[in-house]
Amino acid sequence: MNSIAACKLVDNLYPLMNPSTRIAVIGAGPSGLSAALALTRSIPKLIFVDLYVAISKHMGSFRKLEVAEQILFFWGLAGHVYDLGGQVIARESSPTLDTLMTEMGIELEKLGEEPFSLIDIASGRVQDLRIVSDVLSMLKVTEKLQEAGEASGKLGVHTVSSVAHETSHTYLRSTAKSIMNPKGLVEVPRAVAGLFTASGYGYAEHMPFAYMHQFVMSILGQAYRIKGGYDSFWHKISTTLADVRCNTRVQSIQRRNNKIYISVVQGESTSVLEFDKLIMSGNSSIPVNSNVYLSRAIKASLPAEEAAAGILDYSAKELEVFSRVEIIDYYTTVLKISGFEHFAPRFYYPETAQDPSSVGHFVAMQKFHADTNVFLFWSYGSAEVDQNRVTELLFEDVQKMGGRVEAVVLQRKFRYFPHVSSRDMRLGFYDKLEGLQGENNTYYVGALMSFELTERNSAYSFNLMSKRFGSAEEPIYVKASSLNRHDH
Ligand SMILES: Cc1cc2nc3c(=O)[nH]c(=O)nc-3n(C[C@H](O)[C@H](O)[C@H](O)COP(=O)(O)OP(=O)(O)OC[C@H]3O[C@@H](n4cnc5c(N)ncnc54)[C@H](O)[C@@H]3O)c2cc1C
Repeated sequence: MNSIAACKLVDNLYPLMNPSTRIAVIGAGPSGLSAALALTRSIPKLIFVDLYVAISKHMGSFRKLEVAEQILFFWGLAGHVYDLGGQVIARESSPTLDTLMTEMGIELEKLGEEPFSLIDIASGRVQDLRIVSDVLSMLKVTEKLQEAGEASGKLGVHTVSSVAHETSHTYLRSTAKSIMNPKGLVEVPRAVAGLFTASGYGYAEHMPFAYMHQFVMSILGQAYRIKGGYDSFWHKISTTLADVRCNTRVQSIQRRNNKIYISVVQGESTSVLEFDKLIMSGNSSIPVNSNVYLSRAIKASLPAEEAAAGILDYSAKELEVFSRVEIIDYYTTVLKISGFEHFAPRFYYPETAQDPSSVGHFVAMQKFHADTNVFLFWSYGSAEVDQNRVTELLFEDVQKMGGRVEAVVLQRKFRYFPHVSSRDMRLGFYDKLEGLQGENNTYYVGALMSFELTERNSAYSFNLMSKRFGSAEEPIYVKASSLNRHDH
């Protein structure tokens, strides 16, 4: 065989990138940064990576935000970091993050052994919530699913979506005896189901067990948080990347003739940039009009044009997949409260949050620092329960618990936890979603694929980049075009 034929054969075997390939990564949260890091590490200087973002909304510790800083100063809160988004990491079950945090010299602090309490909204009475044994009772099924997932060669939620699409069934007992019953329903200890709800993932009885599985995998082990706030870590990672464009918004993306055209707004100016490959991170691929969990108003019947509103020029196939996705309206509210001085710094979960009809009431409360009277609250909204209603209910609930709201320091609404129904999962949603990877030179990373937790996002991004652009053992394969090779 002559060497031209040999080169062609190699090209067919490894139809991967040319060193001048230009890749755009949309979003610089954990998924986008991890994807960019995986690519640039393996092929330094060979690939042009662009990241577009102002700040990862999910990750912001609010000390980092300019406007919030003034608010902090005003309320005398400066000097403390309050992570409004991601904050808790179970280090032992977060191998990807653990490696990255060690490399970046990030310092962690332990949360208490059982840093959770139950709170009665009607009286403010508190009792310890011991969940470790309940979580451990799920180890067997978690291990079994994990092994099956690894053997499948798939990634993220897809690893278990065909076997764990049934919804989780909550039992009112402290320890699960049997986890999977013959009907396929998965029995989840009540405390674990409660933690799932409090963490923003909806009610166990509505959600396919595949999501609960991702959750349990990530909470096994001692809980930590990052000293200096979670986004100090992601910021450090971003400084190792060559081309991160901050304060930039991607307005629209057009894919034609094997090229990607991205319209970018920075301040007053708009420009169109050309790329070869596109990586969509976070929720950037999910239509803005997606259905909202716990809402009576369902948008599925919207005209195709409205349903497709978003930054991507969806193909019919992409739209069919992404329009099945539902998100959760998730609010974080920071309140300054008097009368709550007796609360220790920890997380508090109201038992009433176990009832889906309580939508709007808070599902978790946190006292972050012992020496302040600042409290963080997490609540679900819906199409019918808006920001005002969420705030109103917080005022009422604080009063019932014996406190008085002195001020609303900050409130944020997140389009949280993109997910699909048990039915859609059973009908092969994740096969279709993963089938889109690479089509139209486009790849997707983020919570829909991997579940809404930083470790799952980061690990998925690293794995997808390795799988699609290289392998875990070998550097990502890059080649010069065979036309440029010497034919000896
Ligand atoms: C309240 C809350 C609490 C959480 N708690 C935890 C926790 O304790 N532990 C944990 O592990 N995880 C937690 N999470 C989840 C975790 O933060 C997310 O799963 C993670 O941030 C998702 O990473 P991502 O990169 O996929 O998306 P994101 O972090 O959302 O990043 C995507 C980025 O893309 C940007 N972007 C989107 N569209 C555009 C556009 N058109 N142009 C430019 N940029 C764009 C966004 O601004 C964003 O910065 C929490 C999240 C929230 C909201």
